[in-house]
Amino acid sequence: MSTRTDSLISLTIAPAQVIRGNGALKQVGSAIAQLGSRPLLIGGDHTLQIIQPRLESALTGQNCTIAQASYGADCSESALLSLKRAVAEHRADLIIGSGGGKALDAAKLIAHQCKLPIVTIPTSGATCAAWTALSNVYSEDGAFLYDVSLSRCPDLLVLDYELIATAPQRTLVAGIGDAIAKWYEASVSSGHSQQTFLIAAVQQARVLRDILFQQSAIALQFPGGEVWQEVVDATVLMAGVIGGIGGAQCRTVAAHAVHNGLTHLLESHGTLHGEKVAFGILVQLRLEEMIQGNWLATTSRQQLLKFYCEIGLPQTLIDLGLAKVSIADLQRAAEVACADQSDIHRLPFSVAPTQLMAAMVSTTAPCHNLKNDEGFEVEYPTQTLNLKP
Ligand SMILES: [Zn+2]
Repeated sequence: MSTRTDSLISLTIAPAQVIRGNGALKQVGSAIAQLGSRPLLIGGDHTLQIIQPRLESALTGQNCTIAQASYGADCSESALLSLKRAVAEHRADLIIGSGGGKALDAAKLIAHQCKLPIVTIPTSGATCAAWTALSNVYSEDGAFLYDVSLSRCPDLLVLDYELIATAPQRTLVAGIGDAIAKWYEASVSSGHSQQTFLIAAVQQARVLRDILFQQSAIALQFPGGEVWQEVVDATVLMAGVIGGIGGAQCRTVAAHAVHNGLTHLLESHGTLHGEKVAFGILVQLRLEEMIQGNWLATTSRQQLLKFYCEIGLPQTLIDLGLAKVSIADLQRAAEVACADQSDIHRLPFSVAPTQLMAAMVSTTAPCHNLKNDEGFEVEYPTQTLNLKP
């Protein structure tokens, strides 16, 4: 079963250069100056306040004129338009994106559209957006609209652990959720592939998951420590490597489709991308259990519920702040997730919105026939949602 065609495939595997370390930002002046002399720094208002002074001091003596532009709240079409104006006003010859996923996505997309080099400086371990050649575009209200493949990965990625350590712990927890999703999704979308790069991507996704299973709890106990740095490497860099090697064929499946659907509910905007994706993994496994009768999925879900409990990832709609969501709203999210072009249809069976809703409200359903180490049956409380008609 070959999916190889004669069409050309462009590989965008990795940034040209990655500089990582404690205080890395202070030492990247010459590396940035090699890429341009009129950088435009793009980020959120808070990030700009923190990063611009540090960058200015790093660029001292480099003959660079730096300006800044806020992307607002989302990587939306109107934000991109105003950023383009800022690029023209400053006559920028280099874009520096700093912040979380949305700020980095906006900066990468602007650089792509203006054909300028791009430096990414992540401020949290919440996503691998600093690495990848992909940007998500959202509506003004924060609903996911579409993603754009970019011509290349960033020219330079600066991973400064001191900077990441100042972000709320919750962001790294979300990043762990997003990173482990790579295995659950890649193994479904590409697990049977005979292609060298796809086999490599799926296997690395498994290794990444195992590293995070083993290290996350310890890392979160000692922020800034050695194990913590390894976990940051896993969520910010390694997750990006898998996306790069897997490329366009190693797609997301139901976990991200559920995330995309949930972004259409305003009530979900208080939670992070990786938190919704982590919940989406449970939903995906639940679908495999309910529709396919897949007992491996039951075991995986049990393993994940335990892991989520350990590190604080959401297990239910209630945990996602959606306790009061109406059936109509839940149905709307499910319909978005099941739209024709949605990646949910990469599952080896078809999914209807009603089935998806049933999976979404039963992510903690008891795992019958499963025994814990002592031989007792393991039970998880089913969630009680007050669904308004
Ligand atoms: Zn993601």
